[in-house]
Amino acid sequence: MRKSLKAVAAGAACVVAGAALYGAGTATAGQSTANSTHEPYNIGQLVKDIDTYYGTTADSNGVYQASPDSPYAKDLARLDGDARRYIDRAARKAHHRGEQPAVVFDIDDTLLLSLDYEKRTNYTYNPTTWNDYVNKADRPAVFGSPELVRYAESKGVEVFYNSGLSDAQRAAAVENLKKIGADVNLDADHMFLKDKANPPAYLKDCATPGAWNCTTVQYKSGTRRHIEDDLGYEIIANFGDQYSDLDGGYADRTYKLPNPTYFVA
Ligand SMILES: [Mg+2]
Repeated sequence: MRKSLKAVAAGAACVVAGAALYGAGTATAGQSTANSTHEPYNIGQLVKDIDTYYGTTADSNGVYQASPDSPYAKDLARLDGDARRYIDRAARKAHHRGEQPAVVFDIDDTLLLSLDYEKRTNYTYNPTTWNDYVNKADRPAVFGSPELVRYAESKGVEVFYNSGLSDAQRAAAVENLKKIGADVNLDADHMFLKDKANPPAYLKDCATPGAWNCTTVQYKSGTRRHIEDDLGYEIIANFGDQYSDLDGGYADRTYKLPNPTYFVA
């Protein structure tokens, strides 16, 4: 029997459930405010839990890497297996109906793993150090993701990328995705990045040249609406490590990849 997506998601959620037990204020799945009288989960303990989850080890260059036999890797393998079975089935149905099936991937921590940056910065975002890190174009793959991108393509499914990286980071993103073997449709017609200075017309509800006011959900769902309504594709699946990658519709199915290291509203 095929495991439902819900079951897969529940499996992943179990990983953080231990932390959640200690207080509703813990910023895990979808919770971002500390509004209870419980003491929040101890941050030192949480950092240890995150290391255990990723099986974090420093490689010979001192770069922090996730372990391929970690709980994180196992959660991803389960999700990938479900996604492959679903893509195979949904692609055949779409082709049968004469539709053009597509899949959409977020990039950061959906395809390219930022664990080394997060650990090094104590899980605190800084735009300057983040930009330096991205521009090195040397992030490892999220386990299984290059294979999943290529699998979708092999089933006649159009691959698109929908990322909050800026247009100025495009060359680095392309180079890094090539390096990990996700070398599918890395052109500007398939890779949507944020161009705040010159936003596309289809985002006019929240952005005009010189005035960017889109939330992540508006930007990402507006881009998916463009892929469906303007470009004529049927998005059968949307992959992201943040709920803001997935909310807002325009996808038949969503896949939430695990990422306990930061939260993007
Ligand atoms: Mg991401």
